[in-house]
Amino acid sequence: MTMQPTYSFIVPVFNEEATLPELYRRLSTVMDSMDGSVELILVDDGSRDRSLQLMRDLHERDRRVCYLSFARNFGHQIAVTAGLNFVRGQAIVVLDADLQDPPELIPPMAAKWRQGYEVVYAQRLQRRREGWFKRFTAYVFYRLLHQLADVDIPTDTGDFCLMDRRVVDALNAMPERNRYIRGLRSWLGFRQTAISFERDPRFAGEVKYTFRKSLALAIDGLVSFSRVPLRISTYLGLFSAAIAILMAILIVYWRFFSPVSPLTGFATIAVAIFFLGAVQLFSIGILGEYIGRIYEEVKNRPLYTLGEVAGFGSGDALRSPRSMNGLKEPVS
Ligand code: UDP
Ligand code: MG
Repeated sequence: MTMQPTYSFIVPVFNEEATLPELYRRLSTVMDSMDGSVELILVDDGSRDRSLQLMRDLHERDRRVCYLSFARNFGHQIAVTAGLNFVRGQAIVVLDADLQDPPELIPPMAAKWRQGYEVVYAQRLQRRREGWFKRFTAYVFYRLLHQLADVDIPTDTGDFCLMDRRVVDALNAMPERNRYIRGLRSWLGFRQTAISFERDPRFAGEVKYTFRKSLALAIDGLVSFSRVPLRISTYLGLFSAAIAILMAILIVYWRFFSPVSPLTGFATIAVAIFFLGAVQLFSIGILGEYIGRIYEEVKNRPLYTLGEVAGFGSGDALRSPRSMNGLKEPVS
């Protein structure tokens, strides 16, 4: 594709051989109906099934389809980041491969963009037939994040959104490697609006966001956008100090006015030691989360390594390491 497309769709793909054909079928209908040209960027996040082969076939069949392939699994947020580094469109849509983000929502999003909104994000009304555990943890997490975060991150909003070129340029210029994209998107500002939808169940295949990955994402979001957890250690410290003072007063009181002190003995000491140990380890853990992230930032490694790139014209060979840093990408 030599001409710059109007729209770019980015889809992160990790072991999605079961959903890709149907995804393409539904997306291509939407692509045909758009009021401008479209490129579809599939980002293979180190899939171990036939996803990459299917992507190659799609690229052969339909030149609007381009793809990037990571040398290993780097995670969903990084896959989206890579797609954003490579887009050429004026309006950029990010959606999941499993059809939980219905492609038919894209034309209404584009209509909002035409009205002048720079970010149109999709907000979930319901999660149909997702397990109660996922629904419950997601519910609690989004509200907690909303409470604690420095920026106003809308609840029940994932990465499914449309962004104007200016927003994507700003995102690409953000140097941090800890990429909680829905948070960064809110941090940027711009004219944002929501469009609500009912989240369908996954079309096929298994959930690729294991509980561990979801938890890691949740902690990333909290730590990247809030310093409240750091303050928790301060509060806990103050709380234990208050208890210690209270106990000291009680002990002195009992020593002088009470024949037997109820506060002596092994059990009391053991509980106190465990309590203080817990408070200290907990605080060190929180510190560790922040320091670990500082370490990640300082190392300044590339965000991802590319194996295969197709559909982006002359520069399809490996790009320069700088372009893989999630830094601004000059697209030729
Ligand atoms: N995904 C990815 N890398 C990963 C995990 C997931 O690119 O390590 C992609 C996956 O292929 C899908 C999207 O991220 O397109 C969302 O994953 P999933 O549907 O499993 O998670 P959930 O619906 O629970 O958010
Ligand atoms: Mg899903």
